[in-house]
Formats: sequence, C-alpha cells, structure tokens
Amino acid sequence: MRVVPLLALILGASVLGAALPGGGVVAAGVAPHTVVVPPITACSEINKRKIIITRTSIGIQGAVTTKNWRTSQWATSVLDPMYRLSSSYKPTNLVAITWRGVISPKGGYLLKREAAQALSAMFIEAKVSNISLKILSAYRSYATQRATFAKWVAQSGLQQARKYSAVPGHSEHQLGTTVDLGSLTGVAWSNPKFPTSPTALWLESNAYKFGFVRSYPAGSANIALSCYGAEAWHWRYVGKDLAYEIVCSAQVPRIFLWNRQNGGDRVIGPACDSFTPPDGYVLPSPSVSPPASETPSETPSESPTESPTPSPTGSEPTPP
Ligand SMILES: [Zn+2]
Repeated sequence: MRVVPLLALILGASVLGAALPGGGVVAAGVAPHTVVVPPITACSEINKRKIIITRTSIGIQGAVTTKNWRTSQWATSVLDPMYRLSSSYKPTNLVAITWRGVISPKGGYLLKREAAQALSAMFIEAKVSNISLKILSAYRSYATQRATFAKWVAQSGLQQARKYSAVPGHSEHQLGTTVDLGSLTGVAWSNPKFPTSPTALWLESNAYKFGFVRSYPAGSANIALSCYGAEAWHWRYVGKDLAYEIVCSAQVPRIFLWNRQNGGDRVIGPACDSFTPPDGYVLPSPSVSPPASETPSETPSESPTESPTPSPTGSEPTPP
C-alpha cells in the first residue's frame, strides 16, 4: 500500500504540457524533473563568434568538443557551430556505396555500415514511388572538410562560407552517418525549387521510417534553432527509433539531440499520431499507470532491434 508515493508520482506527472523552447511537450506519464537539461547556446550568439584561421588550422572561437564525442555515440552527438568532433574522429565500420545507393566496393562514397544499409533500403523503396535518389555527398573526413571550407572562403568570403559550409570538425558528415541526397532525373538539389520537388517531399514524409532525419529544416524559427540555412538535401541517420522520436517531437534535431545528450525526457509533439512508429517500437519510459506497488521494472522495456541510443559506455547522466 504505497499510496503516498503513487499519488506523488501522479501529481508529478500531471505537471506536463509545459511548452519546451524547441517545441513539444514532455511525454505523458514520464516523471518530470528527473534531469535538468542546461539551455543550449543560441545560434545568434554562436554565429557572432569569430572564425580563427591560421596557417595550420581553422576554428571557431569558443568551440568545444561535443558531449557525446565517442564514435559509439554517433546517433546523439550534437554538432553545430559551437560543438564539434575532434580532428582525429573517424567513424568505425565505413563501407563503400555507389551514388545510386548500392553497397559495393566500387562505390565512390563512404558511410557507416548501418547508415549505408538503411540508405540502400530507402533507395529501393523510393523507386517504388518513382523517386530516383542519388547520393551527392556522404562521409567527409576532417581533412576534406578543411579543404572544402577553405574553398568556400576563397570563393564567396568567410560570412557566406560559414552560412553554408561547416567549419572543420563541426560537420555531421564527419560522423559517417550523414548524406546529401538529390534526384537522379528531377530537379537539381541546388535549384530553389528542390525543396518542393517530388524527391524532397518524398524524403520529408518517408526518410524517418528508414532512420534518417533532416538536420536543417526550413523556416526562420527552425533556422534560428539549427544554426544553418535550410537544407532539403542533408539527411542524418540516427536509427529508426530515434528518427521516429525526433519527427514526433516536432523539434529540430539539434534541440532534440541536445535534450537527449543531456539525459532529458522524451518529448511528444502535437502531430505525433500522424507518424508511424517502427516495428516493435516501445515507449522508452514506463507509463505512470502501473501501480508503484507492482514489481518495479528497473529497465524500461525498451527493445530496440538496432541500438540507436549509444549509451553502453555509460557516459550519459543517469536520472536519479
Ligand atoms: Zn550535407
């Protein structure tokens, strides 16, 4: 008869619904206030920082290594103009993939095996809907990023370069899970009409089912939260469960991942019901409904078939 704790739990859970800075509300039934997530630095503040270029390095003033910097934490590493990977970060299990999405030693692009397999499946499914995808870019090493950024600076100046190209170490392409996708036959990615082309619209509705999320959505509010201009071609693989949770949250991935990286609760967006959860998806947190007197389930019965939450290293904060 643990009436008091149960009551406290229910009362605690009813404090839900407070709007979060990046949109969405905390999942119903999740005990709130388990972890205080520190606020993320605003893009407007970060973008005022100077880029320091020397003969041997390019860096953003005050940039730091992201909290989830290990290669095993690829799904939740927050990368933006402040948080970066180290210059020696190299993803494990890179495989070659062709620009048509076929895993083959002859492929000219590299991706982490999980991402390559998911992408390959997505290309096949897209074809069924008459969408022919092609890879424009995939894994980029630190050295490649350095060369690319330098080229942009030379071509369009520092301000334009930092708007459309990540400073080395800050690109999601270094994770080996991120691709730029275009259309084989339709509107080119660089065409202003690309975001409303059938290819881009198909990706918007379907990429999450394969574990990909769009890092840089359109709209000034989203741009202010993602720190980069809208990119309808840039897709990051985070695994099916996490991708579902991200689209569900209606948050930009940077905000969602910051919350997750810091051990925050799952966030439910207003349009969650319109997205299809992956097969076997189980809510990551136990509902408040089972009485507290029942056998305590220490591990919430999360059963990801692939493990998108890279916490085996145990470096993520554990809620008290
Ligand atoms: Zn990209």
